[in-house]
Amino acid sequence: MTSPAFIPFALPDLTSAELDAVTDVLRSRWITTGPRAKEFEARFGAAVEAAHCVAVSSCTAALHLALEAARVRPADEVIVPTMTFAATAEVVRYLGAVPVLVDVRASDHNVDVAAIERAITPRTRAIVPVHFGGVPADMDEIVALARSRDLPVVADAAHAFPCRYKGRNVGTLADVTCFSFYATKTITTGEGGAVVTGSAGWAERMRLMSLHGISHDAWKRYTAEGSWYYEIVAPGFKYNLGDIAAALGLAQLARAEAMCARREAIARRYDDAFREDEAIELLTCPADRTNAHHLYVIKLVPPVDRNRFIEELRARGIGASVHFIPLHEHPYYRDTYGYLPESFPVAHDAYTRSISLPIYSAMTDAQVDRVIDTVLELSGAQRRRASFGRSDEARAPEVRASGAVRDAAGAAVPVLRR
Ligand SMILES: *Cc1c(COP(=O)(O)O)cnc(C)c1O
Repeated sequence: MTSPAFIPFALPDLTSAELDAVTDVLRSRWITTGPRAKEFEARFGAAVEAAHCVAVSSCTAALHLALEAARVRPADEVIVPTMTFAATAEVVRYLGAVPVLVDVRASDHNVDVAAIERAITPRTRAIVPVHFGGVPADMDEIVALARSRDLPVVADAAHAFPCRYKGRNVGTLADVTCFSFYATKTITTGEGGAVVTGSAGWAERMRLMSLHGISHDAWKRYTAEGSWYYEIVAPGFKYNLGDIAAALGLAQLARAEAMCARREAIARRYDDAFREDEAIELLTCPADRTNAHHLYVIKLVPPVDRNRFIEELRARGIGASVHFIPLHEHPYYRDTYGYLPESFPVAHDAYTRSISLPIYSAMTDAQVDRVIDTVLELSGAQRRRASFGRSDEARAPEVRASGAVRDAAGAAVPVLRR
C-alpha cells in the first residue's frame, strides 16, 4: 500500500479568484502601491470597523510603525507576553527600548493581566497584548489598566482576523491593532500586513513613516495627477504594500468569513474527537469572544512526550508545529535579560507540552479525519508504552528539564533543572 499524501501544517487557500486578481494587476502594469492598495485599505479597514487603515509589507512593519507612533524611545519599556513570535518583541529593540516579558495563562495562552500590572514601571511606554491563536486577549481589563496609567495599547492581532470580543470587532479594541497577511495566516497576501486605528493623528504618523517620511500620498507622483515635488519630513521606513499583494488580499478578504467558518468546523471536530482523551488538554475560548482559529493547540499530558509525538506525526505524514518557543527561552532574550526557563512557569509548561495541529480552510474532511485518527492512535500507543516502563531516552533535553514531568500515574516526579 502506498502511504497517503503528506498533510502539511499550513497551506494557503487560493482559488481562481486570487489567480485572476493577480494577473489583472500584472496586465494593468501598475504593480507597486497604487489603486489596489488603496482599495484594500478601505475594505480591510471596513472589515475590522476601524476609521483608519494603512496597508504595509508585514505585521512586523505594522508593529514597528505603531510603537514609533507611540513615541517609544531608547531605554523605555514595552510590555510583551513571552508566548509570541519574534516580531512582537524585536520591534521594541528596533527603537532601542526594552521588551519587558510577562507570563500568560494556561487556559488560552493569552497574556496574564495581573502580570502586566506587576511589570509596569515609570519607564513603561506601551502595552502589547497578542491575541493568541485567534482568541482576543482580556482587552477590557488591559485597556482599563493602560488608561489608568496613561499608556497606549498596541494589539498584535497577527492571528486574529476575523474575530470579536464582547460583540466588538477585533479592529476596535486597542489604540492601534496590527494584522499579518503572511502565507500561513488566516488571510494572506504572500507577505503583508495592516495597521488600523481610530485616531487620525496616529494614522497620519504611521502612514508618513510607512513610506520614507515623505508627505502627501507620495505614490501618486508617477500618475497623471501627480507632481514631481515631494518633501521628506522624517526619516521614515520602506513598509508599503504593493498592488500585486493588495489584489491577492482583496480576493482573500472577500472569502475571509467563509474560510473562518471552515476552520471553525474543523476545530469543532477536533474538540469532539479529543475532549475525552485523558492525555490531551485543549485550550478554551472564553464565551464572550469568538475565535479566528488561526491555531489549534493541544497540550499533551505526561508521560506522553511532545517531541516524540511530533516525530511520529511526521512519520505518519502529518505536519505539526509548536507555538511558541517562548521568547525568554531563546538565546538572545535569555542572555540579554537573564531569564530562566522557569521565569515564566505557565509559558514554559505550555511550551514543553504543546503541539499545533493543521487547521486551514483548504483541508479536506478526509485529511481532518486522518489527523484525528492519528493523534488518538499515537496518544494511546505512547501511554501504553509508558505504562510498560519504557525508558524516556528519546526525550529531548529541554523536555527532561521541564517542570512538568509526571509519572505514568500522573504524580509529579522530581525534575531536573537547567
Ligand atoms: C506571524 C506573526 C507576526 C509577524 O507577522 P509578519 O506579517 O510575518 O511580519 C507577529 N506576531 C505574531 C504573533 C505572529 O504570529
